[in-house]
Amino acid sequence: MTLLVTGGAGFIGSNFIGYYLKHYPLVKIVNLDKLTYAGNLSNLEDVEKHPNYTFIKGDICNRKLVEELFEKYNFQGVIHFAAESHVDNSIEKPDEFINTNVLGTFNLIDVAKNHWMNNPYEVKKGCENNRFHHISTDEVYGTLGETGLFTEKTPYAPNSPYSASKASSDFIVRSYFHTYGMNVVTTNCSNNYGPKQHNEKLIPTIIRKAIQGKDIPIYGEGKNIRDWLYVLDHCRGIDLAFKKGCAGETYNIGGKNEKDNLYIARTICEKLDVLFPKDISYKEQITFVKDRPGHDFRYAIDASKIEKELGWKAEENFETGIEKTINWYLIKYKG
Ligand code: NAD
Repeated sequence: MTLLVTGGAGFIGSNFIGYYLKHYPLVKIVNLDKLTYAGNLSNLEDVEKHPNYTFIKGDICNRKLVEELFEKYNFQGVIHFAAESHVDNSIEKPDEFINTNVLGTFNLIDVAKNHWMNNPYEVKKGCENNRFHHISTDEVYGTLGETGLFTEKTPYAPNSPYSASKASSDFIVRSYFHTYGMNVVTTNCSNNYGPKQHNEKLIPTIIRKAIQGKDIPIYGEGKNIRDWLYVLDHCRGIDLAFKKGCAGETYNIGGKNEKDNLYIARTICEKLDVLFPKDISYKEQITFVKDRPGHDFRYAIDASKIEKELGWKAEENFETGIEKTINWYLIKYKG
């Protein structure tokens, strides 16, 4: 089986490729990535010489390229990670979010449909099990108050250009199931953390600024809550949904690890105080900065559908996952 993975040089995609090649030695993976500022081939050093791994530098919006790749490799599945993913950038410059996340997703799924299907609800011979798996986010549901959880039935209410572009792509994927009978599945995951995340994101920023002796910037009063999931637990969820999920269904993936940003910063500082001590606590470096406009207050996932139907369960809790993560970034930032 040959799979097309898009955005595999980014944080989650690169963790997924390593995980998948290890667990499925017979599967071939073609990684299509534009290598934007967020993509980094050093994330793939472990697999770059793997006989079943091929890297193609290119844009998912380039229809001709995507068609050529489908012709050449005859993919039996697509796992679509490629996206512009940073909310702050979407506030400054939404254009690329619409291009990649909306038009790019349309381009990919439309080429896959044409390659795999003759007509609506008529799959080409040999393509019966081919599947398009769309990777999405819990941010499409908008924000929660103090209580409640996002389920797969929560109405979409995206608040940032990022989440609006992801919501749009989810709807495109949904429509290809209902209109053409295409075999699609979507997973909506909460905030991921772990090795290989881009420097700009919250947890790498806290660790880096801490060990550089700089201010650790926290938005507002640090009260915004996210449901944190270790990246390899996300990869396991994707693996299950791709293999066993029902066509046309969506599955929420989340770790039951609701933490506010101040808790995250303090916990990392406490761990660093032990792992890499200095004369005063790293907590002294925490500073509050002007909040992000339209900052969603709280996200929290009800993952009971994927747990009950597909047998998924997070293996890491925040305490175990953050230690692995800090150790990885200490090597990256300290050498
Ligand atoms: P990332 O920003 O680290 O990586 C994105 C990758 O996509 C990069 O390698 C980049 O070069 C590539 N890319 C961007 N535009 C492209 C284009 N036009 N053509 C080809 N490649 C392109 O993102 P991530 O954090 O790994 O997220 C991956 C997916 O998971 C995204 O779809 C995101 O919405 C979703 N997601 C992320 C999180 C999270 O916490 N990081 C949570 C839930 C869902």
